[in-house]
Amino acid sequence: MAGADEYAIVLFSGGQDSATCLAWALAEFGRVETVAFDYRQRHRVELNCRKVVLAEFRRLFPKWSDKLGQHHLVDLGFLAELGETGLTGEQEIRMQANGLPSTFVPGRNILFLTTAAAIAYRAGIRHIIGGMCETDYSGYPDCRDNTMKAVQLALNLGMDTHFVLHTPLMWRDKADTWRLADELGGRPLVNLIREHTHTCYLGERTTRHDWGYGCGTCPACRLRADGWERWRARWDAPEDSGRVAPD
Ligand code: ZN
Repeated sequence: MAGADEYAIVLFSGGQDSATCLAWALAEFGRVETVAFDYRQRHRVELNCRKVVLAEFRRLFPKWSDKLGQHHLVDLGFLAELGETGLTGEQEIRMQANGLPSTFVPGRNILFLTTAAAIAYRAGIRHIIGGMCETDYSGYPDCRDNTMKAVQLALNLGMDTHFVLHTPLMWRDKADTWRLADELGGRPLVNLIREHTHTCYLGERTTRHDWGYGCGTCPACRLRADGWERWRARWDAPEDSGRVAPD
């Protein structure tokens, strides 16, 4: 693992997972930049949330604020032109014949990582952090650990460099992701994530649930809500007794 003298860049969308990854990177590395992608998502809520989340990180965690570097927003609008998906068009979110949900955007994460690596290369950044996760996801093949290892190898061969691609959420379920946020930033970070990050596929932010804003029924909301409930339940379990329960 790297130290405080190393630089990192986090794929940062403004959602729960990438906000947790940002906290992880700020705890690990000396300087952390962030990158978001505009690929004509069907709603703009998540991209708007990221500004608030970054501002709240700076406000609530002064020691992290000093490490938080430039934020990049990269226009990848052509992804939407390549074909509609449940995330980029008005298509209904459903399971497809190939076993993947219609929210799968082919090539998206590979393109994200390649773009982040291009920024990292020029900025002298060695570590790239993404919130990909094999445990709780919808079976997206570009979230799998083997895909990440292959992308890391391809980037290092293709740019003749030594990037390290980190996926701190890879083997965590959503309950563990809440727990990791608590370990990294305590209740202030958990509450920041509840209030200001966005997960809902439909861009719904009018209904406030215990776990944050969202429609409460789309696959992303269900995962987030279920993880929150399971994390809360664990706080009542005997091995966690003595800790303060989440409010
Ligand atoms: Zn939703």
